[in-house]
Amino acid sequence: MASAPAPAKLTVLAGPTAVGKGTVSAYIRQHYPEVWFSVSATTRAPRPGEEDGVHYYFVSDQDFQQMVDRQEMLEWATVHQVNKYGTIRSKVEEQLAAGRPVLLEIDLQGARQVKQAMPEAQLIFLAPPSWDELVRRLIGRGTESEAEQQTRLATAKVELAAEAEFDYTVVNEKVELAAEEIVKLMGVKR
Ligand code: 5GP
Repeated sequence: MASAPAPAKLTVLAGPTAVGKGTVSAYIRQHYPEVWFSVSATTRAPRPGEEDGVHYYFVSDQDFQQMVDRQEMLEWATVHQVNKYGTIRSKVEEQLAAGRPVLLEIDLQGARQVKQAMPEAQLIFLAPPSWDELVRRLIGRGTESEAEQQTRLATAKVELAAEAEFDYTVVNEKVELAAEEIVKLMGVKR
């Protein structure tokens, strides 16, 4: 009798701001279409080029609160002290039930909540090669104001200290290598 396929894994990818989570995720999306990326709900405004339902579900504060009250969020957090972001539980559960490996790209507070709600989830910490390199990446991308950069760097310091809470650390020295290491941990075959 054939054995049942191994259940799909829920993987959380977190790490400090500007570490390159977006770039690593983009690489995985492009090369590993079998990985399902959760689309979060957020109260922040869309950036140019971002589409509702693709990058995020862009919702009002009121709608977000309703989803929280109805316990529709697997986790949620206020990120960088400004906007709320949350993972929609039903969508993640649907994909896992269908046997697809799921990747959540969320912040540290969210990662902790997922581990509590689903202890079988694996947490991967994406780390920068060094602090100086992280500062360089954040300032270099030029998408935040100076005040916002300072807030994000303060958050990054706290986030870096949390590495020990994670199951694995992947250093983002080279995007392709970091991405390959992550999909391997997710059990996705080349
Ligand atoms: P951005 O505004 O640059 O798209 O995202 C800011 C931060 O929010 C990132 O660190 C990202 O990981 C985090 N984030 C995105 N979606 C979620 C989510 O659903 N839950 C939590 N806790 N954080 C999220």
